[in-house]
Amino acid sequence: MNYVFSPKTKLAILFGRNTDLRTICTFYILTGSLEMKKDKEFTAYCGLYCGDCVPSNKKLFDAAEKLGEELEKNQFDKYAELKSRKNNVFDDYETFRKVLSALTELRCPKTCINGGGNPNCKIRECVLKKGINDCWECSVFEDCQLLEPLSAYHGDTPKVNLRLIKEYGIEKWADKRGKHYIWDK
Ligand code: SF4
Ligand code: SF4
Repeated sequence: MNYVFSPKTKLAILFGRNTDLRTICTFYILTGSLEMKKDKEFTAYCGLYCGDCVPSNKKLFDAAEKLGEELEKNQFDKYAELKSRKNNVFDDYETFRKVLSALTELRCPKTCINGGGNPNCKIRECVLKKGINDCWECSVFEDCQLLEPLSAYHGDTPKVNLRLIKEYGIEKWADKRGKHYIWDK
């Protein structure tokens, strides 16, 4: 939950006599500011929210890497070869390993504004060329063709998000964002 305090209220809290109230409210002021900073950091040029992207899912990639290491350690390829005589699903073990390895390479360690995401992204290139901060500062985003390819994964969310950022500001829009992937529930 985000608590919004006016500057006058913040001063009253910080310099007031009620220490319990001061501690609790200072906590909310600080966590609120951190939340706002995080929203800005996680907002990509195109209006997507980096924290919702599969490639930024730390838990998933840690688990995939750990699984790869354990399979190697146990020489599971040898085991799968013998197992495949009774259960032919293990014939595809090599394919499974290739997929696991390709999956781990999808990991994105940085947010988009810090250089993560697709290094050849045309949207980022366009924003930087125009000298603006992000697409919501662009007058043509509603009809932009460069944003169109995103719809295969994200539907109309990038444009919905860009409108929200325009309305609420970069630090206060994220809790209203649309579903990231078209298959999200
Ligand atoms: S790399 Fe491009 S498509 Fe991906 S989040 Fe950043 S701006 Fe959007
Ligand atoms: S034309 Fe505007 S909306 Fe389209 S990618 Fe460039 S900056 Fe973003």
